[in-house]
Amino acid sequence: MVAKTRLLVPGTIRERVLDRLKDTFDVVRIERADPALLARSEAATISGVAISGGFGAAMIEHLPALEIIASFGVGYDGVDVAAAAARGITVTNTPDVLNDEVADTTIGLLLNTVRRFPQAEAWLREGRWVREGAFPLTPLSLRGRKAGIYGLGRIGMAIAERLKGFGIEIAYHTRRPREGVPFAYYPSLAELAEAVDILIAIVPKTAETHRTIDAHILRALGPDGVLINVGRGWTVDEDALATALKDGVIAAAGLDVFYDEPNVPQALLDLPNVSLLPHVASASVATRDAMADLVADNLFAWFARGAALTPVPETPFTRKAGNG
Ligand code: NDP
Repeated sequence: MVAKTRLLVPGTIRERVLDRLKDTFDVVRIERADPALLARSEAATISGVAISGGFGAAMIEHLPALEIIASFGVGYDGVDVAAAAARGITVTNTPDVLNDEVADTTIGLLLNTVRRFPQAEAWLREGRWVREGAFPLTPLSLRGRKAGIYGLGRIGMAIAERLKGFGIEIAYHTRRPREGVPFAYYPSLAELAEAVDILIAIVPKTAETHRTIDAHILRALGPDGVLINVGRGWTVDEDALATALKDGVIAAAGLDVFYDEPNVPQALLDLPNVSLLPHVASASVATRDAMADLVADNLFAWFARGAALTPVPETPFTRKAGNG
C-alpha cells in the first residue's frame, strides 16, 4: 500500500478544509504553529501545510520536506513568504472568491458610517422613536461625493463597480496606474486624499503600507472626509485617526480591521463618529466555504498535477520531478 501524502494543519481552520482533505491525505493536527509541538522525526514526513493564520520561518525550517503552504485568506502577511520562497516552497492564498463579499461589506460600512444606520436602529430599539420622535438627520450624505480607492486590485475594482451604481465619482492610487480603467489616477496617496472626500483603503499589509494613513493624509482628506478601512489595520495610524475624528479634522470613519486585533483602542470605541466591525468583510458561510474549497483545491492540484491553482506572486514554482 502506498503511504498517503502527509499534511500538517496547525491551529483552527474551517472544518470544511479538513473534511475535503481527510480522504486523500494523512492529516496531522497540532494546536498551533509551534515547532515544539511536532517531533523532528514526524516533521520530516510533512509535505504540505494548510493554515489559517500565522506560519513563520521557524515552522518552515522545522519541515525539511515541505513543498506547499496553502493559506486561508487573500492576505498572506502572516506567512513568512520570503523564508518559503528561499526554500522553493510554494505559498497559496484564496483570491477572487471573496471579492464580492468584501466589496458588499465595504459599501455597507460606508453607508453605516455616513448615514449612521446602526445608531438609528439603536434609537428605535431603545424606544427613543416613541419617546423622543424622529432620529436626528445625518449631517453627512453620499450625495455629491468623490471616492478615492487606495489599492485598486481585485477587491478595489469590485468596490469601484458598486460605487458606480451610487453615482459617485471615483479616483484611485496604486504604485502603478492600472491599464484600461476609467478612473482618475493619483501617483501619491496624499494627492488622492486631497482630491476626494471618501478614502477607501484596501491595500495589503506590506513594509510599504505601514501606517501610511497618518495625520498628514487625514488633514488632506479634510473636514467632510470619511475614511473606510477594509484592508489591514496596519495601514492606519490609529492614534492620529482618533485625534482627527475628535478634533473634526475628518468627519467620520468606518473600520473593519485594526492594528492589534481583536483589541480596538478605547479612544476609537469612545467616539460617536466611527463605525466599527470585528473583521467580518468576508465572513459569510458561503464565502468562507469557497475560501476553504480553494485551500483544499490548491493542495489537490499541487500533489495531483504538480502546480497550485493560486500561488502568490513571490512563489511561482511548479512541483519538482521526483517528488511524490
Ligand atoms: P490585490 O493584490 O488584488 O490588490 C492590492 C492592490 O493594492 C493593488 O491594486 C496594488 O497595486 C495595491 N498596492 C499594493 N501595495 C501598494 C502600495 N505600497 N501603495 C499603493 N498601492 C499598493 O489584493 P486584493 O484586492 O485581493 O486584497 C487586498 C487586501 O485586502 C488583502 O491583501 C487583505 O489584506 C485585505 N483583505 C481584507 C479583508 C477583510 O476581511 N477585511 C478580506 C479580504 C482582503 P500596485 O501593485 O500597482 O501598487
